This record gives sequence, structure tokens and C-alpha cells, in this order.
Amino acid sequence: MKEFHCGSLVPGCDWHTRHEEEAEIIRRAAEHMRQTHGETVIRETMVEAIRSRIEKVRSAA
Ligand SMILES: [Zn+2]
Repeated sequence: MKEFHCGSLVPGCDWHTRHEEEAEIIRRAAEHMRQTHGETVIRETMVEAIRSRIEKVRSAA
């Protein structure tokens, strides 16, 4: 299981997502960036920034 906290990229944002697939996390994060932070274009640098901040987490038992 992997997790991305938007707050690691946008200070103060509480949004986060969890998924097994990194690609799905990036897809969800990109959607969140568009809807919540007004990013109209998700650039490669943004994708890399998201990817570098994805953390592995133990699945909650
Ligand atoms: Zn956010």
C-alpha cells in the first residue's frame, strides 16, 4: 500500500490518498490538484514532485 499526502507538496492541505498502484495515486493526485488547487495543466515536474512524495505504508490491519 502506498500513500500520498498533498500537504507534503502544498503546505496546509489535509487531502491524502492511498492505493496499491503508484499510477493510480498520481492520477488521483493530479485530479485533486485540478479541482482543489486550480492547476489547469499537470506538468511533468508536478508528476515527479508527487511521485517523489509517495510513501509506502503498512496496510491497516
Ligand atoms: Zn491539496
